[in-house]
Amino acid sequence: MQSQAKVVVIGGGVVGCSILYHLAKMGWKDVVLLERKELTSGSSWHAAGIIHTINSDSNIARLQGYTINLYKELEDLTGQSCGIHRPGGIYLASTKERYDYLKQERAKARYLGLDSDFISLEHARELNPLIDPKKYVGALFEPVDGHVDPSGVTHAYAKGARHYGAKIHRECPVIETNPQPDGTWNVVTPQGTVNAEVVVNAGGLWAREVGRLAGIDLPVQPFEHHYIITETIPEVRDHGREVAVTVDYEGNTYTRQEHDGLLYGTYELKPQAWAVNGTPQDFAAELLPDDLGSISERLEIIFDRMPALANAGIKKVVNGPFTFGPDGNPLIGPVPGLKNYWTAVGVMAGFCQGGGVGLCMAEWIINGEPGIDVWGMDVARFGSFATRDWGTIKSRENYSRRFRLTYPNETLPEGRRQKTTALYDRFIARGAVMGVSFGLEHALWFAGSKDKAEETPTFRRSNAFSYVADEVKAVREHVGMIEIANYAKHEFKGPGAAAFLDRLLANNLPKTGRLALTPMLTPMGKLYGDLTVARLDDETFMLFGSGAAQDMHRRWFEMHMPETGVTYRNVTDELHGFAISGPKARTLLSRLTRDDVSNGALKFRDIRRMVVADVPVVLTRVSFSGELGYEIYCAPQFHMRLFEALEGAGADLGLRLYGGRALMSMRLEKNWGVWTLDFRPDFTAAESGLDAFIAFDKKADFIGKAAAKADKPAKRLVTMVVDTKDVDCLGDEPIFHGGKCVGYVSSGGYAHYVKKSMAMGYVPAQWAGDGTELEIELLGEFYKARVVARPVYDPDGQRMRN
Ligand SMILES: Cc1cc2nc3c(=O)[nH]c(=O)nc-3n(C[C@H](O)[C@H](O)[C@H](O)COP(=O)(O)OP(=O)(O)OC[C@H]3O[C@@H](n4cnc5c(N)ncnc54)[C@H](O)[C@@H]3O)c2cc1C
Repeated sequence: MQSQAKVVVIGGGVVGCSILYHLAKMGWKDVVLLERKELTSGSSWHAAGIIHTINSDSNIARLQGYTINLYKELEDLTGQSCGIHRPGGIYLASTKERYDYLKQERAKARYLGLDSDFISLEHARELNPLIDPKKYVGALFEPVDGHVDPSGVTHAYAKGARHYGAKIHRECPVIETNPQPDGTWNVVTPQGTVNAEVVVNAGGLWAREVGRLAGIDLPVQPFEHHYIITETIPEVRDHGREVAVTVDYEGNTYTRQEHDGLLYGTYELKPQAWAVNGTPQDFAAELLPDDLGSISERLEIIFDRMPALANAGIKKVVNGPFTFGPDGNPLIGPVPGLKNYWTAVGVMAGFCQGGGVGLCMAEWIINGEPGIDVWGMDVARFGSFATRDWGTIKSRENYSRRFRLTYPNETLPEGRRQKTTALYDRFIARGAVMGVSFGLEHALWFAGSKDKAEETPTFRRSNAFSYVADEVKAVREHVGMIEIANYAKHEFKGPGAAAFLDRLLANNLPKTGRLALTPMLTPMGKLYGDLTVARLDDETFMLFGSGAAQDMHRRWFEMHMPETGVTYRNVTDELHGFAISGPKARTLLSRLTRDDVSNGALKFRDIRRMVVADVPVVLTRVSFSGELGYEIYCAPQFHMRLFEALEGAGADLGLRLYGGRALMSMRLEKNWGVWTLDFRPDFTAAESGLDAFIAFDKKADFIGKAAAKADKPAKRLVTMVVDTKDVDCLGDEPIFHGGKCVGYVSSGGYAHYVKKSMAMGYVPAQWAGDGTELEIELLGEFYKARVVARPVYDPDGQRMRN
């Protein structure tokens, strides 16, 4: 075996083989795959092989479309059959809420370029003669859906990879992965050691074990999963064409044709986690003992909805394990904290997603960034809070909810209170409805008392509406307080810190005591961060940014940092605190400090260390609400003390606690986008409008400068007022001009103070002008939308500057 390679991929399942194929296809010849046993020895060989495009994350849906379309190309290249069947797929709704979900999916498909559309229930029955149409209220049809032969696909990737010059070694278990001082890895096997510039863990069922060889714990977990293959079913045999792949959400079933019978499977409510303490090394291409009792309750529902199934004889029962991640999506990319170590694990739908995962991994390894934003799959969305046990708990929840509806305003119950601040119990007592971000609980809104603190899951306006309205009013007219422990804080120190940040960030660095907004760009000019940079002294800087993206950003900083001259620490968990905002915020602050906080002494965009309520704090004068505001950061041990002092001093000023929902509402009336929704690596600075914060004339050759300078954006982020009465955009709705789909909504909601439904979204530059009339499809209805170039609230931004 060779002793050197550019990339070693560990694992010859569908995912590893696809990564190898894409690396080799993109021109990297010196790439090697090491497989413990034979290819497909993990979960890949016994999959049901169903392929579909629907995914709640639109970029993952896009990649699923890419995967499905790749199979023909693979067959043509390799001559290896992938066993492609494309009878199309039907998605059945039996509740109004599920029908709403399908309407959203159909709307999304319009801008993804997919042909999904509603069909009548009679038509659905023509495509699948087993279903009882009386059980359903709607059916969505997706023509590209179908199924493939899992083993054929995996071998086709392998053959294609070899065709392009890659090497595959079977019966070659990796037993050690040892990092070297130069950033490479020694990958040890009984057949010899390969020194690799990059290692990829595609260990599938053994992802956790392979990860542990590098000293990391991955929060993924294999689960048992059953499907059943029937004997001949006359309705199927006599159908005259292949029965459509069918997903019945409330029935919790998927079915596809297998010979003259059906293959059907279900996701049980009480999933059986398999090999919790580790996947046995001697397991290979094996099945697990059947336990039909565990799915019998679910089968009753299927038999009710597809009565012919109840009478069909069972030819075969398959119970095989496969691996889930905490939110059901894969964990891919470079692992934060390790050099040149990548994962592509937790891929629970390898035949829908394997091609897209392979493509993104190869682009990312070769070009330094994937072709589209892969946040929904990025391993960096889980930090140290995602322990092994937490991974098992959340993955179990996700498995059990595979076909269950999760509403956009719903926060899932398992694995909660993993991280809390000192105020958690107090907030609960005040009726806080909590959300979670990067493992940390934070208040979404306050119901006033514990017994009212429940939000109805819905696609429409929920019972939170009036509470959020009151919180917004309190901030706009008096003063509000929100906990900001969940904002990311990154600290840079040292003589080289300024030079490093000047190269990393696109805006000018502020002077000592000041802060600035700045985009952070990739070399291709895509957004990689929307940050606030503050200078505390000549050699000390703080960056404030998205809490959810803190590990993604940490990885970026560490990737670009020089060896010496600058030290970096993620201090997010070391700084809790509060933002106070509203016209009375200064009065409140002045009651708790001896410092002069008048407008002349503490200016908009100042930062300083000071003492507030006897607590040492770092204070910034900024505001995401658009009002006069201060963010006051303190060590967690002072958090409660600061809270009590602020509350006491603010009582007669009308101080009110507010949560994330009110903040999101207020930022909409200011036309301000947010990271992960409106600002993400899918867009450039000019497209998003963040080029307003780029210092093109600064000396430093900051990352992405050339690309940003050359950028002539064809699309632009706009804010729109949407003409709805009782429903608001949630994100991902298509935008139309002249009856043609021209863009999509990146975020939306109700702007409570100005009493308007609003949305932000990307449209072609020619339709981005103020006053342009557009239309948005929302839950199956079309609504007028008008572009507003200037914020509908305080357009000149005076309130936060006064
Ligand atoms: C019953 C069932 C039905 C399914 N149905 C579908 C479906 O309809 N559609 C769909 O898209 N997906 C389906 N899946 C899921 C699909 O099978 C998985 O998503 C896919 O197999 C994951 O592939 P992988 O390459 O990540 O992992 P695996 O297939 O587990 O591959 C990992 C490979 O890594 C190797 N390996 C591990 N450790 C080492 C080491 N130390 N050194 C070298 N090699 C190592 C293993 O031997 C193995 O070959 C189903 C799964 C099951 C069990």
